[in-house]
Amino acid sequence: MISQRIIIVGGGAAGFFAAITCAEGDPSAQVTLIEKGQKFLTKVRISGGGRCNVTHQCFDARDLSTRFPRGSQELIGAFNRFQPGDAIAWFGERGVELKVEADGRMFPSTDTSQTIVDALIQAASNAGVKLRLECGVDSVTKQVDGGFRLGLSDGKTIECDRLLLATGGCRSSAGGQLAVSLGHNLTALAPSLFTVHIDEKWLRELPGVSIENIEATVPGMRLRERGPMLITHVGLSGPVILRLSAWGARELAAVDYKFPLHINWLPQYTNESLSSKLSRLRKTHPSRMIVNSPLAPLSARLWEQLVIASGLSPSIRWAELSGSAQHDLVNHLLRTEFVVTGKTLNKEEFVTCGGVTLAEVNFKTMESRICPRLYFAGELLDIDGITGGFNFQSCWTTGWIAGNAMAGLMGD
Ligand SMILES: Cc1cc2nc3c(=O)[nH]c(=O)nc-3n(C[C@H](O)[C@H](O)[C@H](O)COP(=O)(O)OP(=O)(O)OC[C@H]3O[C@@H](n4cnc5c(N)ncnc54)[C@H](O)[C@@H]3O)c2cc1C
Repeated sequence: MISQRIIIVGGGAAGFFAAITCAEGDPSAQVTLIEKGQKFLTKVRISGGGRCNVTHQCFDARDLSTRFPRGSQELIGAFNRFQPGDAIAWFGERGVELKVEADGRMFPSTDTSQTIVDALIQAASNAGVKLRLECGVDSVTKQVDGGFRLGLSDGKTIECDRLLLATGGCRSSAGGQLAVSLGHNLTALAPSLFTVHIDEKWLRELPGVSIENIEATVPGMRLRERGPMLITHVGLSGPVILRLSAWGARELAAVDYKFPLHINWLPQYTNESLSSKLSRLRKTHPSRMIVNSPLAPLSARLWEQLVIASGLSPSIRWAELSGSAQHDLVNHLLRTEFVVTGKTLNKEEFVTCGGVTLAEVNFKTMESRICPRLYFAGELLDIDGITGGFNFQSCWTTGWIAGNAMAGLMGD
């Protein structure tokens, strides 16, 4: 005897987690997961460079929430219910061992996302979830009995008692139209986690060069990040730039991705300590060419380009460095001023900033405050994290809460 019919729209990380949790929690419910694409879990497959950065080794709800430019407040309570430790245990119980890397990111020990895909599909099948591929949900209407009728891309309709939308990030407002049609509002949409274009000739000489620790600042926007950065063939990338793009997603969209960017290549130095260091080099290595004496930890190639870009001749020796030229070099090393002229193409963007307004959702159950028996999970919500496994963790967490709530195991 079927106790209730539950439909989950979206066969990504959040949809699968919600479907499995719900079907395991209420075995008498008929749980159907509907995916419009030809495959389930497409993003999980390509995530983390094919390795899937499942979560992050961070077990404190408050600390974890600080990694979310949007959604941090709402997620604290949610993480108190289901956090990375729970995700590790969940996958462990299903035979998937996770390993941690030095920076805290966690991957399957097999180093392939297929392990996660297989585990989710197997768990859904074991729990009796009905899986439907190549079936888009085009429309949804609320029924008088409180349930929903869904219009499908094959022209058929299907009904359910509870509905969960887990349709992923809305690249455009069309992506959130099912939520909007049920009375919800979307916050302004913008890409997050993108890399930047910089038209600077000397930088173009350095594609592939990575730097362990720089500080990047966007003047006037209070955006400042420290950490590793990568020089690409068109500009800058790496964790620092991605984090900057996440925290500044809306402000940077507002200026159409044209903004000044300052890079401090040696944040471990102050103005004074770097000036003293260069003065000592003038005394200790007077006859050595400056371009040939890179300052650790900068690589020889990067140092050479930085020295030349500061206005010095490639042939100048330490003894020939004037006081004002030294001043310019210090300034350049601690504050290279770039002009960003754009961002990367859409396909390289990782997540969407913006989505279903969080105030319209009860985070204790993930149920809509506007439309009873409607639930949300994953990136469709106005939640996004920085890189490091945080985006999947918010999918596991919101999916798990919604799944339990729909199964009647979690309430206010
Ligand atoms: C290249 C790349 C790498 C990433 N790597 C990582 C990583 O390593 N770690 C991490 O934490 N995050 C990573 N992310 C982010 C992470 O993948 C997403 O945040 C996460 O997949 C969102 O899951 P979701 O279930 O909310 O949405 P999605 O995974 O987008 O799933 C939504 C599904 O709903 C379907 N759908 C949409 N509309 C309908 C409809 N009307 N009817 C039926 N089906 C519909 C879509 O086809 C899609 O399959 C990465 C993202 C990208 C793009």
